[in-house]
Amino acid sequence: MDFKLTTRRADSVFIVDLAGKITAGDALPALRQTIRDEVAKGHNKILLNLKDVSYVDSSGLGELIMALGTVTQTTCAKCGATVFKDDEGNWDPCPQCESRDRKPWGQLKLSNPGRQVTDLLQFTKLYSVFDVHESEEQALASFKSR
Ligand SMILES: [Zn+2]
Repeated sequence: MDFKLTTRRADSVFIVDLAGKITAGDALPALRQTIRDEVAKGHNKILLNLKDVSYVDSSGLGELIMALGTVTQTTCAKCGATVFKDDEGNWDPCPQCESRDRKPWGQLKLSNPGRQVTDLLQFTKLYSVFDVHESEEQALASFKSR
């Protein structure tokens, strides 16, 4: 099956149902645009449901990492502005309010990874980088607990 992407909501969580192969081609820009659109709309709880994903290659994995970075980008804890690192990798104070308190903007979780995706995440040591849940119910519950 080719790549397919559909979206739905469960309360405050925005669910992206992915299906087929997440590989170089149509899948990557579609996923990237969806994440960007949701972040632009202020949807800060995003669940990527991988239940029907049959295969992820390295470029697909890179796209998942980019999605995670987009949703969990570091923001000012006071005013919500995006904050950046300087050339030495230290965090600059907030460009708007000078605060040095930071927090991730949103949460992105994965649910229902199949065997190949699970193996890929573990092999690349990314399983713990992502918040992976075995079922959608568990993932949704974990959003609420924070
Ligand atoms: Zn600020």
